[in-house]
Amino acid sequence: MRIDFFTLFGEWFDWFGGQRHVRNALEHGSELRYVNYRDSTPLSGRQVDDSPYGGGAGMVLRVDVVDAALRAVYGEDSPARVILLTPAGRPFDERLAAELAAEPHLALLCGRYEGVDERVRAHLVDDAISVGPYVLSGGELAAMVVADAVIRKLPGSLGHADSAVEESFSAALGGLPEYPHYTRPASYRGWGVPEVLLSGDHAKVAEWRRVRSRERAEPG
Ligand code: SAM
Repeated sequence: MRIDFFTLFGEWFDWFGGQRHVRNALEHGSELRYVNYRDSTPLSGRQVDDSPYGGGAGMVLRVDVVDAALRAVYGEDSPARVILLTPAGRPFDERLAAELAAEPHLALLCGRYEGVDERVRAHLVDDAISVGPYVLSGGELAAMVVADAVIRKLPGSLGHADSAVEESFSAALGGLPEYPHYTRPASYRGWGVPEVLLSGDHAKVAEWRRVRSRERAEPG
């Protein structure tokens, strides 16, 4: 898989690209690229934004700037599934992460400041995704959230291939949150481990885990 991040702050991704599971994915053939909107802006002085029509605070990332950046990388027809990160987008969840992990090529567009000219969403992207009902300073962290959830599903990313199969919200768990985990010591400050997990009875352990998963899915 190839993921292109369109951003004004490529240095935000320095840490991300160095993480073990990301490096594993890169070693297994995945590719990450970083595109700065300023490098292809048609405006002088590397300008990328402008004040909003109708007035109001802040600056808006221009549609011609975003279009120029996409064309500079892809030409007329983008081979990538192009996604805008925005608080007003489709909620990101495990199902969408799995859907994106099946794509060969993603482009993640990070906004900044007051946001992005609406014509980007209307005409230049395939999807708009929100990582939650709150406002971040920019799309970089949101893009990393999306990329992280996608990359850990790619072959070779995780040390144990099974780790990404049976986990919270996966099909293997019927879309439920994962059951609780415990490890040594069996008793710590008087806090024990459920007896069934020490029993060696796999059927009982599986049933206990199913029940705990269902409990965790219940609100409150
Ligand atoms: N004025 C916008 C609003 O009220 O919705 C917020 C703009 S935010 C400060 C700047 C950029 O951060 C957005 O264009 C978007 O790319 C990104 N962003 C912020 N919160 C996000 C979220 N919850 N999900 C995805 N992207 C987000």
